[in-house]
Amino acid sequence: MRRWRLILLGFGVIGLAYLVHRFLPTQHNPLRPPDLTEPIGLATYGKLTALKHNEKLCRETLQAAGVEFSVLPADGADVRCPLDETLVLKRSLTPYNAAPMRMTCHQMAALHIWERHVLRPQAEKLFDSPLRQIQTYGSFSCRNIAGTGVRSQHSFANAIDISGFVLEDGTRISVKEHWRERSKSGRYLARVHKKACRLFSVTLGPDYDADHADHFHLDMGSQETCR
Ligand SMILES: [Zn+2]
Repeated sequence: MRRWRLILLGFGVIGLAYLVHRFLPTQHNPLRPPDLTEPIGLATYGKLTALKHNEKLCRETLQAAGVEFSVLPADGADVRCPLDETLVLKRSLTPYNAAPMRMTCHQMAALHIWERHVLRPQAEKLFDSPLRQIQTYGSFSCRNIAGTGVRSQHSFANAIDISGFVLEDGTRISVKEHWRERSKSGRYLARVHKKACRLFSVTLGPDYDADHADHFHLDMGSQETCR
């Protein structure tokens, strides 16, 4: 009798697991492959992190979301910062003010989710205007973290610095000028910074230190910080 109960319990657990897997939305289900067009969910960060170890799936995921990129071969030209194969962003939903943007695949995937599901809808919500341009100080740069002997994630093409945004209605939102303001621009910056923490391993803004007074630093390195 006891054995039958155990067998029934086993079937119950398997059935429940199947139903959860079948009906749980993709963004909450860690067993489903990543889809950058799905809203941000409980499993999004885990899936982005997992893409670090699956370059093929990562590139397919970017392509499926309509992101256009080219592939740069491994680069040993700069012995200080040799890189594996990296991607160059050619086209996303919103233009950037600087090019080329050289990044690791998983960094590009996190950036695309932030752009698609945070930057663009928040601009519509707060300003009733589409986002026209994302302003950046760049991604790849062979350098140390300021004041240290430690290589920055920029030197692994695994980071980007974002300084502001321009909307279709002409509004300019600047991290340097509008951070901490109670204005719409200030609220926009606070919201997109907070949401970035759910996507990137490290999100640093003006509250972190004076070196970040005029930009957000976003990276997919092994540390985890949200400041
Ligand atoms: Zn940075």
